[in-house]
Amino acid sequence: MRLHAGPAVCAHQRSGFATRAVVRPSTVAPARAPVARRAPRRIAATPPGGAAPAAPAPAAGANKAAGAAPHWQLALNELENKQPGKVVVVQTAPAVRVAIAETMGLAPGDVTAGQMVTGLKKLGFDYVFDTLFAADMTIMEEGTELLHRLEAKAAESAGKPVPAEDGHAASTILPMFTSCCPGWVAMVEKSNPELIPFLSTCKSPQMMMGAILKNYFAASAGVQPEGVVSCSVMPCVRKQGEADRDWFATEAGPGAVRDVDHVITTAELGKIFQERGINLKELPETEYDNPIGAGSGGAVLFGTTGGVMEAALRTVYELVSGEPMGRITYEEVRGLEGIKAATVTIPTSEGSPFKALESAPGAGVTLRVAVANGLGNAKKVIKGVSDGTMQYDFIEVMACPGGCIGGGGQPRSTDKLILSKRQAAMYQLDERTTIRRSHENPAVQELYKNWLEKPNSHLAHEKLHTHYVPGGVGGDDK
Ligand code: SF4
Repeated sequence: MRLHAGPAVCAHQRSGFATRAVVRPSTVAPARAPVARRAPRRIAATPPGGAAPAAPAPAAGANKAAGAAPHWQLALNELENKQPGKVVVVQTAPAVRVAIAETMGLAPGDVTAGQMVTGLKKLGFDYVFDTLFAADMTIMEEGTELLHRLEAKAAESAGKPVPAEDGHAASTILPMFTSCCPGWVAMVEKSNPELIPFLSTCKSPQMMMGAILKNYFAASAGVQPEGVVSCSVMPCVRKQGEADRDWFATEAGPGAVRDVDHVITTAELGKIFQERGINLKELPETEYDNPIGAGSGGAVLFGTTGGVMEAALRTVYELVSGEPMGRITYEEVRGLEGIKAATVTIPTSEGSPFKALESAPGAGVTLRVAVANGLGNAKKVIKGVSDGTMQYDFIEVMACPGGCIGGGGQPRSTDKLILSKRQAAMYQLDERTTIRRSHENPAVQELYKNWLEKPNSHLAHEKLHTHYVPGGVGGDDK
């Protein structure tokens, strides 16, 4: 076993990004201890007031706690029994936008994200946000974390002191695995807990967005965190179990304020639209709500295998070299192959702090990356990394074939080419965006300026990073 984990550490307070003035929202909650697990709420299947749709089939395994209502039902109840002073918001994941059309018998991508936003507003959501924003935040946090690990490893290899950050020695643990996918995280926790220190400490985009909504958005909207009901539409039943993890909460104690309260799958949302007679194809487009509703083209790619890696390379390249990558697409990590690998060499400018990562003066920084989709392929990568036949610095793993476009919460399809079609739609969406690199998203820059200061800051770690549990957490198979 060549994987070696050093001490668990935090990588706070260092970044290649500029430090800016910080104005913290006045109502941002202080750090709190992990809270008691959410007790399942027992409610009637039909919301008071009558107008409930016939029940869409809940996702397999969802809400397994006896008597708990499905997440989608809880979300509808919130809309139909809206409490005075509360705002009900929803975020939609990247992969949802290319598959929601299929619930209406249309081709992938035939309905625009803007039409889906209109449909969600018709359902009664006060604000509709795009998880793309949090995907861009993930790139900022995860890309910075990777560079910190590389710097620390280089220092260790050169016999120099490993940089200390926020009272901890920086992590030297490589390769770093992505942590966006709760299916992959659950596999590591349950079957390969020795890999936990190799996982990025970043929350998934869904959970980053939840924390941003209950803190930054709530403060800017003038409501307390408990005044925001936070829902999400995800391609994945695993996201329900993820949202229920004890520590993904802003307030502690009885009635804890969850960062994400209710998770609806793409297929469930399609069924709800059908039951309500909402035909997305006939609706006008509405833009996502701002300032935290805009995302880059790189963020769109999170919905498909290789997308996190491609988005990360776009940003890490510029962070290291000080200039944009010559090409915007990275074909080596595209497509549906089970395991993809690539090597990218990034030039460094004179005086660059990343010169220490060069194998020889002027050689540039070489990153060895790999991408796996499907847990069978993930196991192959774990084996290869463990026995030393695969050597990488950064590895993206998504549990579902094709990544989130093939998630268990997406509409079922008999089309053998459905993953290719959904993936092609995602690539087109990336090409159509004007901002394609996460770090160029002005709303992301604004969030750091106004709240978090810089990627991997102490506050960013408190709000946007997480920890893992050897053996896993009950309910993860939701
Ligand atoms: S790859 Fe599958 S399990 Fe993982 S986040 Fe995406 S839909 Fe969920």
